[in-house]
Amino acid sequence: MGSIKIPFNRPYLTGKETYYIEQAVKSGKISGNGMFTQKCQKYFEEKYGFKKTLLTTSCTDALEMAAILGNIQTGDEVIVPSYTFVSSALAFVRQGAKIIFADSRQDHPGIDEDKIEKLITPKTKAIVVVHYAGVACDMDKVMFLANKYNFLVVEDAAQSIDSFYNGKPLGSIGHLAAFSFHETKNINSGEGGLLAVNDARFIKRAEIIWEKGTNRAEFFRGEVNKYGWEDIGSSFLPSEIIAAYLWAQLENLDKIQQRRIEIWHQYFRGLNEWAIKNEVNLPAIPDYATNNGHMFYMVCKSTDQRDQIIRHLEENGVYAVSHYLSLHKSNFYRSRYIGDDLMRADKYTECLLRLPFFYELKHEEIELIINTIKEVKQILGGNA
Ligand SMILES: *Cc1c(COP(=O)(O)O)cnc(C)c1O
Repeated sequence: MGSIKIPFNRPYLTGKETYYIEQAVKSGKISGNGMFTQKCQKYFEEKYGFKKTLLTTSCTDALEMAAILGNIQTGDEVIVPSYTFVSSALAFVRQGAKIIFADSRQDHPGIDEDKIEKLITPKTKAIVVVHYAGVACDMDKVMFLANKYNFLVVEDAAQSIDSFYNGKPLGSIGHLAAFSFHETKNINSGEGGLLAVNDARFIKRAEIIWEKGTNRAEFFRGEVNKYGWEDIGSSFLPSEIIAAYLWAQLENLDKIQQRRIEIWHQYFRGLNEWAIKNEVNLPAIPDYATNNGHMFYMVCKSTDQRDQIIRHLEENGVYAVSHYLSLHKSNFYRSRYIGDDLMRADKYTECLLRLPFFYELKHEEIELIINTIKEVKQILGGNA
């Protein structure tokens, strides 16, 4: 047993990555917005109906583009869940926004949609919703408020590829959405991301911001005969080498998704009864949401219980991990946070644990992880 090692994540290689990278290199065009970038963008636009997509070097970059497009300025307020990755807030902080942190739901780490309205003020310019573990927020409630109070909705869809809300692809509902292809996500290119633009008003400017504030993309399509400086922006586009790698992954998206969802169900079936007995909450998927097999998490009854499970797994060569630390309590934001306590975000900070999850995780390995977790009951004296 001692020699078994199951990492938390292992990026999956489909086998075609280096072949496509070689093609990109040999084509002599390896800067951004070439053939592989176009192929990837077209794939997303056709498969999920996003009006316009732009590959970026990360989800963080796509969120920064969203903050620029939303004209977020000093003093504007942006509502963001506290229980999320830094970038959901950081991209807006860089534009000078004041972040209004929101709490999570009782049954899910995503934003508590019923508590959003009381956070809205005349200064509210945008909301960032995060579909945690690829499970949709209740977007009808969010869009209703956005229309009523006229603010921008940005979906942080970093974890949400190929997941749906009432049949609509995640990332297609808000005005803008950001996906991640970081190596920990379902589809990866090492680092990588995508901005999806659903509100056509933003398309032209998004392309300019993407290409260092120039209208180079228009020039590239032959729509103008020279290009120049038009707006602010940055170098948000990845090289063709990254796009080529991503293309190999996208070709296998359906296969990857199918296997990941099987893994998720094996964990759920294997742990459900144990979890109920031990007051551990397994993920709840609301009727309006789908499960895209991004992550398998559990919410323990206490930090002690969580840490014992992590320790016992580690002693057996299995690497389970906790997740976010509430952003309103981060070193960076704590001193300027003036809102209420966010008890649920804190609960997930203290009690949530994620199990190893990757395409090549084997049936027997999952069985071993499940059985190892079940031993913890005895360690805790049968009352954990
Ligand atoms: C992974 C992740 C990000 C950051 O993605 P990068 O591509 O690494 O910038 C942002 N938000 C959420 C919710 C994430 O899971």
